[in-house]
Amino acid sequence: MFFGTKRPPAPLPFASHVCGPALSLLVMGKSGRARALDLLLPHGPLRTPVFMPVGTQATVKGLTTLELAAPPLDCDIILANTYHLGSRPDGRTIATAGGIHKFMSWPRNVLTDSGGFQMVSLLKLAEINEEGVAFQNPNTGETMNLTPEYSIQLQNQIGADIIMQLDDVVSSTAVSAARFEEACHRSVRWLDRCIAAHTRSDEQSLFGILQGGLDVSPGGLRDVNMRSMLERDKDLPGYAIGGLAGGEEKDMFWRVVDFCCSRLPSHKPRYLMGVGYPLDLVVCTALGVDMYDCVYPTRTARFGTAMLDVPGGLLKLKAAAFKEDRRRLEEGCDCDCCRNYDRAHLHMLLKTEVLGPQLLTLHNLAYMARLTRNMRAAIVAGEYPAFFRNFVERFFGGKREEVPRWVAEAAAAAGIAVFDTWGTGAMDAPWRSPPPPASAGGGGAAPPAPPPPPPKRIRPDA
Ligand SMILES: [Zn+2]
Repeated sequence: MFFGTKRPPAPLPFASHVCGPALSLLVMGKSGRARALDLLLPHGPLRTPVFMPVGTQATVKGLTTLELAAPPLDCDIILANTYHLGSRPDGRTIATAGGIHKFMSWPRNVLTDSGGFQMVSLLKLAEINEEGVAFQNPNTGETMNLTPEYSIQLQNQIGADIIMQLDDVVSSTAVSAARFEEACHRSVRWLDRCIAAHTRSDEQSLFGILQGGLDVSPGGLRDVNMRSMLERDKDLPGYAIGGLAGGEEKDMFWRVVDFCCSRLPSHKPRYLMGVGYPLDLVVCTALGVDMYDCVYPTRTARFGTAMLDVPGGLLKLKAAAFKEDRRRLEEGCDCDCCRNYDRAHLHMLLKTEVLGPQLLTLHNLAYMARLTRNMRAAIVAGEYPAFFRNFVERFFGGKREEVPRWVAEAAAAAGIAVFDTWGTGAMDAPWRSPPPPASAGGGGAAPPAPPPPPPKRIRPDA
């Protein structure tokens, strides 16, 4: 079976770090806060920034492992899920097969999520307490008691290259401050139990998961959680930013990412969980994130939506407008879908055949692979700000008034003036954050900052 890929010779790294017994990091390029890394893992190098396709049940739905490994996807890593694999088949079966790589015929890297996210996605079927989480299997009625120890035992049996701590996950839009506080501290206690239970640290790298809700104030929950995690740095080859991508306001989302990236050690990888919108990747990479995962590109493909380099980034191919559209799906894309099928054929296949969703899954992952490769090339060339501006300009069709305020503010936090090449009115004052209030002179508490003004529309010709 062919799994090899001819790759151009890599440039020499300008820094290297040992993150743990089974993970080293080479810095291949930096541009502002954006990083291009090679993570050296047991099943080959992982080039960042990277989007990890989700293969929940030891398969990326609709694709063979050969398609995942071959260009243009050329995936270095895929993600699988401990809760789902622990339910079917089970940890012992995968261990007996020689681990997940042999079980699913995938010789490259795998990351397993711990099952924590299912506390949110399967909340109605789960009961959470200090010991762990009890899931009820909706099909069999059986209960799985997923404790930190059992999650690690399963992940040790599954044998992924990167494994995740079990954390106490709360939806970012939950309203109970007490629940956020409980989950923040409990996640740290569960991390200690995960570290103690991990029996294969020489082969599998355990990542801690930062929690703490949306509060990034000094002494707030994210701050407290970050300090606790950093106290355990010697046991953690890498870190994940958790508790986001749950429907929170984008203005909060990027500030949490910014907070975490500016405090995490620079010599460890940073993984932003559950994030897969292209615009989010471009912004969060500017802030210093290295790794992403999300079901979005593959799931939206199964619903008939293609990800393209067009304003808005999407094409809904089931629409009647494509019935007689004989153009390629995307010019310049060299995936099998774009090389061999036109939009009219895909329109029909998506309505009647399994091949339609398969082809579109292949294309959407090719799109994500191309996006992250281009991001990496820009970082290595030291030109990420130009890439950022160019992406945003194309994504919003050159209409400055369409660019959300949070994108411009996140860019500014990363040192990127998003409108620099967009004409004469680049980075006008309305895009900047309001100045902090002047300190109250009388020794009393400073008045609360006024709410930021609503995004001001700027005419393109302003
Ligand atoms: Zn394509």
